[in-house]
Amino acid sequence: MNKPVRVRYAPSPTGFPHVGNIRTALFNWLFARHNNGKFILRIEDTDVSRKVEGALDSILTSLKWLGLDFDEGPGIGGPYGPYFQSQRLDIYRSTAEKLIAGGYAYYCFCSPERLDSMRQEQAKLKQPPGYDRRCRNLGKEEISKLKAEGITPVVRFKIPLEGQTVFNDIIRGDVVFENSTQDDFVLLKSDGFPTYHLANIVDDHLMEVSHVLRADEWLSSTPRHVLLYQAMGYEAPLFAHLPIILGPDRSKLSKRHGTTSLMEFKKQGYLSEAMVNFLALLGWSLDEKTEIMSRKDLVDNFSLERVGKTGAIFNLEKLTWMNGTYIRALRENELVSRAIPFLEETLPAEVKRPLSRELIKLIVPLVRERVRTLKEFADMSDFFFMEIPEYSTSLLLGKGIKNKETALMAVQRAHGGIEQLAKFDATSLEGLLRPLSEQIGIKTGDFFGLLRIAVTGRMVAPPLFQTMAVMGKDKCLKCLDSAIKKLITLK
Ligand code: GLU
Repeated sequence: MNKPVRVRYAPSPTGFPHVGNIRTALFNWLFARHNNGKFILRIEDTDVSRKVEGALDSILTSLKWLGLDFDEGPGIGGPYGPYFQSQRLDIYRSTAEKLIAGGYAYYCFCSPERLDSMRQEQAKLKQPPGYDRRCRNLGKEEISKLKAEGITPVVRFKIPLEGQTVFNDIIRGDVVFENSTQDDFVLLKSDGFPTYHLANIVDDHLMEVSHVLRADEWLSSTPRHVLLYQAMGYEAPLFAHLPIILGPDRSKLSKRHGTTSLMEFKKQGYLSEAMVNFLALLGWSLDEKTEIMSRKDLVDNFSLERVGKTGAIFNLEKLTWMNGTYIRALRENELVSRAIPFLEETLPAEVKRPLSRELIKLIVPLVRERVRTLKEFADMSDFFFMEIPEYSTSLLLGKGIKNKETALMAVQRAHGGIEQLAKFDATSLEGLLRPLSEQIGIKTGDFFGLLRIAVTGRMVAPPLFQTMAVMGKDKCLKCLDSAIKKLITLK
């Protein structure tokens, strides 16, 4: 096929994009960019009852966050618009009329009640569910009569009763469906809205979509689409159904496996470039081993030939590892800018705003190697911004120093020594505190652990002397004072 590459991401605004939806968007975007084609965003909003408030915004924000820019679509328009299906209803209606006129579709007047009892009967008899085709051969007069009775029909497609529908899927090869297993599905509902199947093929045709890249779950809809293309005399696009995404237990990825909402990952401090890299490897690979790939590497190398058939496992640990790698690779200034919103969110209101970029810059080298998300960055460094860290006094009597008097003496001696320090940097602090631990007869691990709690309020923190150096002498002394008070009042 030599048609120019035009692909689309066609979400329905029925929920917030999750990892699976966005993987589809990403693969379409990569395919378009690799082939110098066009990436279209089309909003499939014809199912009014399932519309979710805020979903469209979330689709747009998700694409923007990942940098998946579209060439045609909502907000920017394009030569094939409108790009909201709800604004194209006339086109679908007239297509349905054409299909009826050509003998490929028919009016169905069956009431929901009748369809319901038919389904129950089928279930009872253990027959496959499906419309029993009662209206398939109604005569003109019957149709007029029923219409005159005020019944608004739906329009159904006439599936050929015999034969097979075959199409070639780029990923799965030849796929064959027996027509006898297909239902006379609805094209146009009684409210005049098209179903997904009708609107989807009409738009893919009119928007000159060359390749349909979509999730595996749509594979079973494809024979209907192929038959519709044939009935309309349209050339069908090429299909590529992307492998299903599985959780670590190999069942379909769902909320059970933890969060799957894309924007939730942003909130948790994942970088968009790590997310793009990770999502690209959900079903595609460059080779057996390459993990870290820039956006450019992905665009340069993406091909449908290397999309797998088998399910892709969503491994959160891998994403988190990858995110840590991306965080370490960020320039200092960039990391500072990206950490700020997370610090803003984590720090209590009494911390003065705007936060000091200078201070954050000093923190970066202390935490960069230790954090895997921006949220961890904020969680690990919040005490730098607080006057005195909050912690429970009992922490001061940790595993090493169990005795109140010993702890008090140790903190007081540290306080005294620090007060005298002329130069306050990591080397001088180490030069003071190491020998001091020997003098007072407390193991360095225990002594430093105690001081760590006193100045940071936590048991795990960045390296002690560097941390203290960044905090500054005054603040360290205040923290030690506060620890002394806590110990004195401890019963
Ligand atoms: N509107 C469908 C969805 O929400 C589009 C499926 C397709 O790409 O054909 O996923």
